Amino acid sequence: MTRRLYQGVAGVADASESLRTSRNCRSFDSVAGAPSLRMTMDGGVGNDCDPKLREECGVVAIHNHPHAAREAYLGLYALQHRGQESAGIATADGQHLANIKGMGLVSEIFTDDVLAKLPGRMAIGHTRYSTTGDSALLNAQPIRVDSTKGLIAIAHNGNLVNLGSARARLERDGAYFQTTSDSEIIVQLIAHSPAGSLVDAIADSLSQIEGAFSIVMMTRDRIFAARDPHGFRPLSMGRMKNSGGPDTVVFASESCAFDLLRAEFVRDILPGELVMVSEDGVTSRQYGSGVLQSSCIFEHVYFARPDSRIFGRWVQESRDQMGRQLARESGVPADVVVPVPDSGVTAALGYAEEAGIPFRFGLIRNHYVGRTFIEPEQRVRDFGVRLKLNPVHNLLAGKRVILIDDSIIRGTTSRKIVRMVRGAGAREVHLRISCPPTISPCFYGVDTPSKQELIAANHSVEGIRQFIEADSLAYLSLDGLLQSVRDERNVGYCTACYTGNYPTQWVDVEDILPAAVAL
Ligand code: SF4
Repeated sequence: MTRRLYQGVAGVADASESLRTSRNCRSFDSVAGAPSLRMTMDGGVGNDCDPKLREECGVVAIHNHPHAAREAYLGLYALQHRGQESAGIATADGQHLANIKGMGLVSEIFTDDVLAKLPGRMAIGHTRYSTTGDSALLNAQPIRVDSTKGLIAIAHNGNLVNLGSARARLERDGAYFQTTSDSEIIVQLIAHSPAGSLVDAIADSLSQIEGAFSIVMMTRDRIFAARDPHGFRPLSMGRMKNSGGPDTVVFASESCAFDLLRAEFVRDILPGELVMVSEDGVTSRQYGSGVLQSSCIFEHVYFARPDSRIFGRWVQESRDQMGRQLARESGVPADVVVPVPDSGVTAALGYAEEAGIPFRFGLIRNHYVGRTFIEPEQRVRDFGVRLKLNPVHNLLAGKRVILIDDSIIRGTTSRKIVRMVRGAGAREVHLRISCPPTISPCFYGVDTPSKQELIAANHSVEGIRQFIEADSLAYLSLDGLLQSVRDERNVGYCTACYTGNYPTQWVDVEDILPAAVAL
């Protein structure tokens, strides 16, 4: 079998593709507006940025709320950082399942008028950046399917790694697929399960698939939430008290969503756990066990918001520790510690405090740059980075600067930032990275360039230093990273992108293709 790895970061479908797909899609779901996107800020078509690694999705579910769709909207709004390509909300009113999804940001798709078309006291929602299946609206989630087990809506975060064999088996059994997304494979497995009850069928189906998945599912009268047995992606449960009635139960990829909903954090869904919420209350079962937990450590390094608690631990605390450990491992005399905003900020604060060097916002991020912009006729050198970041000259001029960032992917963006800081008059620029070198692609829901494109897979640290033109470069050690996220809970972490040691037995690489390839 030809081994094909991720080819790069997917772009967003252009207007004609979006509209063409949306027409196809209306046969089974409603579609909100499909805005025309000419260019994206985070590595989209034609961008000269070296993009960050991108998370695939965020999910949310609401049970028993009079404005379930609006609550799901708020939850997705708080999870927007986990995917900006498309979003969707499905609701149930005990009889029917409504489902609306569209291309773009949550706030662009779900206006008051659109939310008014989503009645019911239950909702699931999804915000997406795709890595598997094409990036068009057809594969936006939730997916609603009328199956032999009744109407089911499903949304998931992660990537299955044995979907090729599962899909082939289902097609032999007569399954007909409407999309190329992992979620539909799960629904088809449920539909084809010989188990008598729906909850048994879900447990049976989830035990047949391998890879990373945090799932929310909804029928006419029940909500389900589950995590894969390795526990790759986060998923938490929260609760809102209702005076004189049963509580509202909520699920979200990250606990920061609960704050906006004014929900109280209850607990993480356990790896291999399936939770069901109905009018009879909350029940749980362990459908998968016997594998070691391998939660994604990169969630702590970069993806999750610092105000979230994931895998039982505050992300802010982890990043602070990464910065402190980095200072202990690779301190260098300097005048100022400067984060690459926004994701480098928390680690930089920890570094500065540990090293006793002043922390300064020496790079300012333009928060008002939208996802789209008009490309100038004459391409300005380093335009993408300069549009997003600007140096504070008076803080940097004549200084020995320690720059803190959370990753180097291809190296081109890091070089632009180093040049920018030096161009603002810095005497020395020392780059410090709050995780080990990224040497291997991710197969568990993170969009990673191929190994050939990962600079650390092909160059020594000294080689990378020369390429990015820094005076010195150091990464946090793997031991240092693990130490930074370690606590009494003893959570097991996946570190495959730093080690090449994958926690699942095999990877059906042929099927894990980026969106751009499928378009
Ligand atoms: S390979 Fe890296 S990004 Fe992917 S799940 Fe493992 S730690 Fe996370």
